[in-house]
Amino acid sequence: MEQQGSQNFPAFLDMGGRRIVLVGGGPNAERKAVRLIGHGAHIDVIAPQLSESLMASVKEHQLNHVERTWQASDFEGACLVVAASDDRQSNVAIAEAARTAGCWVNAANQPEISNFLIPSLVDRSPLLIAVSSSGTSPVLARLLTARIDAFLPHTYSELGKLADRYRERIRESIGNWRQRRRFWERLLNGRLGELILQGRLTNIDEALEQAIREHDGEQLDGEVYLVGAGPGDPDLLSFRALRLMQQCDVVLYDRLVSEPIMALVNSAAEKVYVGKQRSNHAVPQESINSLLVTHARAGKRVLRLKGGDPFIFGRGGEEIETLAAEGIPFQVVPGVTAAAGCASYAGIPLTHRDHAQSCLFVTGHLKDGSVNLDWPALTRAQQTVVIYMGLEGLPVICQQLIRHGLPATHPIAIVSQGTLSNQQVITGTLDSLPDLVAASESVKAPTLIIIGNVVSLREKLAWFETRT
Ligand code: SAH
Repeated sequence: MEQQGSQNFPAFLDMGGRRIVLVGGGPNAERKAVRLIGHGAHIDVIAPQLSESLMASVKEHQLNHVERTWQASDFEGACLVVAASDDRQSNVAIAEAARTAGCWVNAANQPEISNFLIPSLVDRSPLLIAVSSSGTSPVLARLLTARIDAFLPHTYSELGKLADRYRERIRESIGNWRQRRRFWERLLNGRLGELILQGRLTNIDEALEQAIREHDGEQLDGEVYLVGAGPGDPDLLSFRALRLMQQCDVVLYDRLVSEPIMALVNSAAEKVYVGKQRSNHAVPQESINSLLVTHARAGKRVLRLKGGDPFIFGRGGEEIETLAAEGIPFQVVPGVTAAAGCASYAGIPLTHRDHAQSCLFVTGHLKDGSVNLDWPALTRAQQTVVIYMGLEGLPVICQQLIRHGLPATHPIAIVSQGTLSNQQVITGTLDSLPDLVAASESVKAPTLIIIGNVVSLREKLAWFETRT
């Protein structure tokens, strides 16, 4: 069976008063010692000789140097053993003896004989961020750690200490756990948290006492976040979208919101699927509107997550009309609409000085077997037409465009699952594309149609599927 995820279970151990045995006296042991020091454990370093720098650490941190070769009895009663001699064979023997003594073992650069790994650490004590590659690439883990480290102000430590100092006090003053969680989130995410992070708050305690006093304990106001999730690639989310996705209490999402994007939503949030199939309206629009109202009234932060941009063929307007009428606060976060995302990832600029001075977005949704569009407007020269929801109507659309004066050789492309790793693009002419699409097995919903001379630029500008 293919293994899912990693078997490594991340946990933080209380090492106060526990014993760690570090075997080795050279460069490997030096590197490991740095990671072991500072967590309250009693550390024995076993090696006949220590390098100069390891000797210095031993002195500075009062480690216990056992000046001889290791023996199996050294591991009795120890909690962790680190096999860090500079000889791989010796490490195998150390690991075996330590395991027999019932210890957890880590061996330098030998994950295959380790049963615990030491992660790279971003230290904002009491906040700790541990990064592991499950032994596959320590370099990758270190690079990631460096990125997180650069991104997180050191003052996060202060926030952590503050939270610790006030935990009890706030538990007593704000009895309701949901209100308490919201209080913390507002505090840490809000102006006070920002001032602490910037190191600009001199009298933190007074400011916090005031925030507790001013907290009125009333029913919390809910809010709706109408957020565009973009066409599928999670890298195309905006910062604001991501922040709101991570702080919502409940999410109402569509079929078009990709799995990798859903994986970024607060994992504790309640997830409600309200997707509509084209012919099978799973949840009627009115029910979605009223669900938003009900959840927000219950004091929840409701994320209404939609594919692409909420205001482009997304019924976003209808949903917030109801909220506005009911007096429920909301905010709207734009997303990359399918036209922009698919065009970029297909290498088809929607406008171009030589080919198109305007661009039209229309829906090609079939109603009673026909497509009701303003055909003369779609056939204007020097224009790109983007058709959403047009797969089923493609043959009719192409026929009508030819009938209304576009040449049968006019370029057209269909982008399937745009911006996702399995994006497929088929290009052709008004004459040829319907048959090409019918014959292809790779065209899967959602699909977007792009019509115009700009399509021919893809020959030169395609970059996404051609990457090696
Ligand atoms: N609000 C969305 C559009 C919703 S209508 C937006 O701004 O993009 C749904 C249609 O969008 C689909 O039928 C398809 O035509 C298009 N679409 C959405 N995501 C797409 C994708 N990843 N690739 C191709 N077309 C997509």
